[in-house]
Amino acid sequence: MDYAIAPPAVPSLPVQGSALRFPVRRIFCIGRNYAEHAKEMGATVEPGRPMFFCKPADAVVADDADVPYPSATNELHHEVEMVLALGAGGRDVPVEHAASLVWGVGVGLDLTRRDLQAQAKAKGHPWDVAKAFDHSAPVSALRRLDGALPGPDTELRLSVNGALRQQARLGEMIHDVPHILAALSALFELKPGDLVFTGTPAGVAALSRGDRFHAALAGYAELDGRIA
Ligand code: MN
Repeated sequence: MDYAIAPPAVPSLPVQGSALRFPVRRIFCIGRNYAEHAKEMGATVEPGRPMFFCKPADAVVADDADVPYPSATNELHHEVEMVLALGAGGRDVPVEHAASLVWGVGVGLDLTRRDLQAQAKAKGHPWDVAKAFDHSAPVSALRRLDGALPGPDTELRLSVNGALRQQARLGEMIHDVPHILAALSALFELKPGDLVFTGTPAGVAALSRGDRFHAALAGYAELDGRIA
């Protein structure tokens, strides 16, 4: 096929232990999935009603890369999250089948312009400019799973310049992976290549130019980077 302009490149992430790359189709994110984080944001959690937002696929930043400090903010915040990489899709996927969509996992940062998010919340505006900006989704190399999802005792951690900022167990999630995917598939037909950020625990805080971050989904994935 001939295109009127050069078609955009396919955003992708490295795969651990492989020369193959994982092509990224879309990025979905769940909000308020850890009670202590919802509390620190002054939000109330409505059980059974997950809240989702999106980032563009080309917001991904690979491991060990610099993240440019974004324009139009003075309050760039980190949110460390487990990231699911889907190898299969579907719509209205039952909870009991949802885990089978997951091809692999990684760890990522849902970078947020917190000042613009606060303005959007106050005005009832969408969150796009707070969440979906360029380079807003650093993600580790992905770990392919052979069946089992990371268990509830798996730790999620983020340190900045060597100091621990966020730490939680996956078991603290309000909506677990099958329930997240079942709920998301009722709103969007999920497709192979989709990434799903699964929410951040408490401890979100500001990043400054020059900060070095290290995120881990213990035993599965690690992510390093620097705010440039
Ligand atoms: Mn988040």
